[in-house]
Amino acid sequence: MSSETLDAGMTPRKLKVATVSLAGCFGCHMSFLDIDERILPLLERVEFDRSPITDIKHCGPCDIGLIEGGVCNAENVHVLREFRANCKVLIALGACAVNGGLPAQRNHLELADILQQVYRTGHGLAEGSQIPNDPELPLPLNQVHAVHEVVRIDYFLPGCPPSGDAIWAFLTQLIKGRAPTLGHGLLQYD
Ligand code: SF4
Repeated sequence: MSSETLDAGMTPRKLKVATVSLAGCFGCHMSFLDIDERILPLLERVEFDRSPITDIKHCGPCDIGLIEGGVCNAENVHVLREFRANCKVLIALGACAVNGGLPAQRNHLELADILQQVYRTGHGLAEGSQIPNDPELPLPLNQVHAVHEVVRIDYFLPGCPPSGDAIWAFLTQLIKGRAPTLGHGLLQYD
């Protein structure tokens, strides 16, 4: 873990928090919502920038960035770099961000073979199915990467997903200006 902290305890302004799901399933975001009614005291200390809650499309200058999911395509790389450029503290949230997680299971296969199987030769496909090639679609990477392989990450919060209690403990310590530590029972790797 990094020693990066936020000197927020004496700061009257609310801290800005941005969250995003890259190659993830939104399970880590759902776990964030498991903090339940604690979202109310949290909202007294933070306001959300880009996140599924606000639907803001680009991350502006923020204190904390939470990244769910690994990096599987060119758009993920772009979004992750935007978060790194704008967030003072960047957190890899959950197994997919920490080490690629489930999406990285494709890493031992050839990307071309996967696309061929999924869109051309797999069962149940309509006749004449083609591999999507619209230029608007982000180009897939050959491998799924953990976020720290692309940008510098300040903290890693493992788990699939990390529990709401772990996310709460992590964020509240960070907001108080401390380097977060999670005790036994909150840190998990499954
Ligand atoms: S770590 Fe688990 S819950 Fe979080 S995005 Fe990955 S698969 Fe989903």
